[in-house]
Amino acid sequence: MTSPPAAAPQASRTAREPESRASGFQANQSAAVESSVIQVQGLSKTYKTARGALHLFEELELEVEVGELVAIVGQSGAGKSTLLHILGALDTPSAGTVTCASVNVASLTAREAAAFRNREIGYVWQFHYLLPEFTAQENVAMPLLARGTRKAEALDEAANWLREVGLEDRADHRPGELSGGEQQRVALARALVCHPRLLLADEPTGDLDGVTAGRVFELIQHLHLSHGLTSILVTHNMDLAVRCTRTLRLENGRLTQITDVATKPLQDGNSC
Ligand code: ADP
Repeated sequence: MTSPPAAAPQASRTAREPESRASGFQANQSAAVESSVIQVQGLSKTYKTARGALHLFEELELEVEVGELVAIVGQSGAGKSTLLHILGALDTPSAGTVTCASVNVASLTAREAAAFRNREIGYVWQFHYLLPEFTAQENVAMPLLARGTRKAEALDEAANWLREVGLEDRADHRPGELSGGEQQRVALARALVCHPRLLLADEPTGDLDGVTAGRVFELIQHLHLSHGLTSILVTHNMDLAVRCTRTLRLENGRLTQITDVATKPLQDGNSC
C-alpha cells in the first residue's frame, strides 16, 4: 500500500456527460471495445531506486468488463497500489499498453491525465484523506467546486450523496467528529459525486474493524450496482475478496485468477 499521489482527490463533472468525455484527450479508437472498460497488455513497471532497478510487473495482462467488481489480493509490496495508480492515470507504465475507458492512459499529458481522472475515475484509499477543516458536506462537494460548479449546487449534490451513503445527519460534522466507517462513507461519496465510470478502491476497509469493514464493503457493492460502476478493489481481506465478481492475485509480477463467480449475480447486501 502506498499513499495517494499528490493529484488526489480529483475534481470531476457534475453529471454524466458522455459527449464531453473525449474532449481534452484522445480516445484510443483501436481499443475502444464497448464491453471492456480496462485492457492492459504487456505491462511492466520499473522504479529506479538507490539499490538499482525495481521491476514490478512481468508482461502483466488484465481485462475488466463493464460492470465487474474485481478484487485484487496479494502480498504487501506486490505492486497492487502501483497497478491501481497506473489504471487511474496517477502513474505511468514503463512498457505495455493500458486502455482505460477507451483511453490509452500512458499517452496522456499531465493535463490530459487530470481531465481523464476528473471524468472517469473515483478513487478511495485506505485512509480517507478528507480535509480536516471542512465539514463532511463540504468535503464531498470539493471535487465539484474544483471544476467550477456553483457552490449551492455542489453542496446540494453533496447532500444527496451523503444521504445515499447513509450520513445525511452527519453533514455538518468535520472528519474528526466521524467514526472510521463514517469517514470512509464520506470518502466514497466524494469519490462518486461526479459520477465516474470507474471506482478504484485501494484497501478501503484496511483500517476498519471487521464489522465496519463488512458494512463499508456492502456499501461499495450497493453503490457499484446502483450506479452501474466498474470497480476494482484491492484488499487483504479474502472474505470480502471472494464476494466480488472475480478475485485476482498479484504475485511475481502477474495476475492470476483465483475465483470466478461471474455467473452468480452480485448480491446487494447494503444495510445503510
Ligand atoms: P502493494 O500495494 O502491493 O503493497 P505497492 O504498489 O505499494 O505494493 O509497492 C510495490 C513496490 O514498489 C514496493 O516494494 C514499493 O516499495 C515500491 N515502490 C512503490 N512506489 C515506488 C516509487 N515511487 N519509487 C520506488 N519504489 C516504489
